[in-house]
Amino acid sequence: KLSKRLEAVASYIPKGAVLADIGSDHAYLPVYVMRNGLIRKGVVGEVVDGPFQSAMKQVAKNNLEHVIDVRKGDGLEVIQPNEVTCITIAGMGGSLIRSILEAGKMKLEGVERLILQPNIGAFTIREWLIENNWELITEEILEEDKKIYEILVAEKGEPLKPYENKETELLVGPFLLEENNAVFQKKWSNELRHWKKIIEQLEVAEDTPENLARKEELLKKIKIVEGVLQ
Ligand code: SAM
Repeated sequence: KLSKRLEAVASYIPKGAVLADIGSDHAYLPVYVMRNGLIRKGVVGEVVDGPFQSAMKQVAKNNLEHVIDVRKGDGLEVIQPNEVTCITIAGMGGSLIRSILEAGKMKLEGVERLILQPNIGAFTIREWLIENNWELITEEILEEDKKIYEILVAEKGEPLKPYENKETELLVGPFLLEENNAVFQKKWSNELRHWKKIIEQLEVAEDTPENLARKEELLKKIKIVEGVLQ
């Protein structure tokens, strides 16, 4: 059985997709969607040897070697342009996901959908999507084992509507903001509390240019988040 988080990621994979799961670790996600007949073919990418071996084992255990190809390599270097139609990258920081997409841009040819699940720093992915003409089509926020996760789903194409309130929507997510559910409220109340604690520490710290810049940035974010929590 898949975790609630990976099940949510899987739910956005279009039926019949050729999927690349990058940074797959144990390959739970591609094995699950293949066993459920949701994808046609899978590529598993792993850069670290331990997780790569564990992905190979999982695929072999399920007799899926003929339809799931486990490859060792960094980010999107394991796929060719026009090879896959959907890419999942889950369980990493937003800036790592962004750097994988940025370094592998040429490999995105033929990819129709990206499903990205950053553990932190979703804003940096939203920024990358806009800069690279990927349209955010939906988002989900969920809680599992006291951790809060965001899922961003994007398709190739210009944004249909320009962001109305760009800074806010980049930070908290346009779809998540619109839904404004209990998990969203919880996530941003937690962040707010955390930032205010840092501000308190900065108040008593020395006014170095770095501290002042950090404080200014936090105050800006606090203002944005207080606005959405009203
Ligand atoms: N995707 C799985 C999930 O969501 O449960 C596993 C997440 S695990 C925390 C992150 C995995 O990404 C690790 O196995 C790590 O080796 C892999 N990884 C990190 N950077 C990578 C990169 N540049 N290319 C491929 N895999 C990478």
